[in-house]
Amino acid sequence: MKALDELTFDNRFARLGDGFSTHVLPEPLDEPRLVVASTAAMALLDLDPAVAETPVFAELFGGHKLWAEAEPRAMVYSGHQFGGYTPQLGDGRGLLLGEVYNQAGEHWDLHLKGAGMTPYSRMGDGRAVLRSSIREFLASEALHALGIPSSRALCVIGSSTPVWREKQERGAMVLRLAPSHIRFGHFEYFYYTKQPEQQAQLAEHVLNLHFPECREQPEPYLAMFREVVERNAEMIAKWQAYGFCHGVMNTDNMSILGITFDFGPFAFLDDFDAHFICNHSDHEGRYSFSNQVPIGQWNLSALAQALTPFISVDALKEALGLYLPLYQAHYLDLMRRRLGLTTAEDDDQQLVERLLKLMQNSGVDYTLFFRRLGDESAALAVTRLRDDFVDLAGFDAWAELYKARVARDGDDSETQRRERMHAVNPLYILRNYLAQNAIAAAESGDYSEVRRLHEVLTKPFEEQAGMEQYAQRPPDWGKHLEISCSS
Ligand code: AMP
Ligand code: MG
Repeated sequence: MKALDELTFDNRFARLGDGFSTHVLPEPLDEPRLVVASTAAMALLDLDPAVAETPVFAELFGGHKLWAEAEPRAMVYSGHQFGGYTPQLGDGRGLLLGEVYNQAGEHWDLHLKGAGMTPYSRMGDGRAVLRSSIREFLASEALHALGIPSSRALCVIGSSTPVWREKQERGAMVLRLAPSHIRFGHFEYFYYTKQPEQQAQLAEHVLNLHFPECREQPEPYLAMFREVVERNAEMIAKWQAYGFCHGVMNTDNMSILGITFDFGPFAFLDDFDAHFICNHSDHEGRYSFSNQVPIGQWNLSALAQALTPFISVDALKEALGLYLPLYQAHYLDLMRRRLGLTTAEDDDQQLVERLLKLMQNSGVDYTLFFRRLGDESAALAVTRLRDDFVDLAGFDAWAELYKARVARDGDDSETQRRERMHAVNPLYILRNYLAQNAIAAAESGDYSEVRRLHEVLTKPFEEQAGMEQYAQRPPDWGKHLEISCSS
């Protein structure tokens, strides 16, 4: 266990030089205070959990203090936003403080979001508000606990600094952790600004640090791109299987590592709705729930375009062709497991699709349906769940198919079935209204609810005593909360 001043830095991205990022110091928040910290994320840095409560912790992650070895840099990148190319983006309100390596030899980027203005702030103020910082913190840690690759969050620091959005709010910072903060948009930036040397330097950096096994392949860059395709297919399959809607899948928000990244107006589905749009500024539904799948491929194509100096177009196209079949395979595998199946049959895809259509038409809660399906034998469970459906004949027909399918899958006891299903079907997810309750309390200075919710979400598959209120469908007020992009 380490104290705060014992972290070891090795700032490899900063060493790429000024063409890649700009040195900027964090702008401190007034009266910084700990809102919430993640013990699990602290463990990634070997940090003693007790240090979160010390004043120096809030000072470090509230922009007042800095380690001597930290080299805070704002990174430059660009990207396709809602389908159109934006030539220059970059860390407009976040800073890469440095790279820390832990005792296991892993490197973690420390990235402080809400740290003030940078050369890439454009019209923004460089700040993040408490509300969005709490949402990012909870989502990162909740996705990780669900087994969905994500950047992590160490802590949220609140303050008395006024920040203007639609109304006056308070500034906050969230300390984000990831093995790298390099996005698709980094590659696009050097490609479109015609800087081949820097682009090659970036590609070498990513290959050596994050895809070393691809070095052994005959075409290392192609192997790396293929790996990015595979990781994205798997990540998006998990989003779809668990009902996670990212909301702003611009290429500047896509991590080269295939982890969920840059949280904005994201949401988990309450009722199943394939057409759900969580970002109320997304008028055309470009990033609706079901569109996430083709958009994943669109984004990979944008990355492929930026890699044309290194890889032949034919090879890139072939690698892109891997995306959909891989996505399908991962998705179906997960959905089979969510249904309690251990074998594969050709008609399983149809079984899943029919169920989702029925759920869509009846507004069935996506998370609780699967959890309850595993509570009892298939026959009993479908009898109890029947009442949630409007199209009873349709559900009965599906239930017959399902029971027959479960029977063919093989014998197991109700206990085995429950254990197997509960291990993949969460009881607790980060519903928007739960986040909203925690945010409302935090905005009035009470952080206990954020902390409790965070705790519950770290064990989403485990029934926790006295936490029934976190495993409910949303109340009417909490069903269709509008989450804006202004964060
Ligand atoms: P996002 O939609 O959060 O992914 O941000 C898109 C771009 O806008 C990125 O370059 C951000 O750094 C920048 N940005 C977002 N909010 C602010 C802000 N309050 N101040 C400065 N830049 C911002
Ligand atoms: Mg972003």
